[in-house]
Amino acid sequence: MARALACLRVTLPSWPAAAARLLRNCWDRMEGPALAVQGPAMLSGALADPSHGGEPPAFLDGVFWMAAPKNRRTIEVNRCRRRCLQKQLKTKNNIDVCPECGHLKLKHVLCGYCYSKVRAETVQIRRQIGVQEGGPLRAPAVETVVLYRGESPEEEDRGKRIIERDRKRPSWFFRG
Ligand SMILES: [Zn+2]
Repeated sequence: MARALACLRVTLPSWPAAAARLLRNCWDRMEGPALAVQGPAMLSGALADPSHGGEPPAFLDGVFWMAAPKNRRTIEVNRCRRRCLQKQLKTKNNIDVCPECGHLKLKHVLCGYCYSKVRAETVQIRRQIGVQEGGPLRAPAVETVVLYRGESPEEEDRGKRIIERDRKRPSWFFRG
């Protein structure tokens, strides 16, 4: 929709033309050490600009033209624009309940609560490995079995790397 725009006029404060002319005459006659004169920046720019040809700055030199709406938009029009379908929140249909802990999670996405539990336990297992083996670079090239309190290695665990944890086995950590 083509919207007609009016122009807003902003007038900057400027010195009277007589004062500007007097300053320029003093500037032209001045010889020897330079004199610092405090004045508007637009005046010094006009003095230094040779395109003005010595003329004082015109009245419209200190005017900025800015775009502004011509007509006021009603609140109904604004609300229709702000509450249109494209700007409304979409309804999520892919929220599911985690079968392990019951927290809400997105479908086909790992549960964040369960993931944090597994991650914390993995950190503890790695710390135990560091205590048993004296460092992370001495890992044997065999399968690792994690045994918790009250568990003993079975026949199939013979020859495997056994990490013992001094706590009860978490319910979600099945012995595989
Ligand atoms: Zn969960």
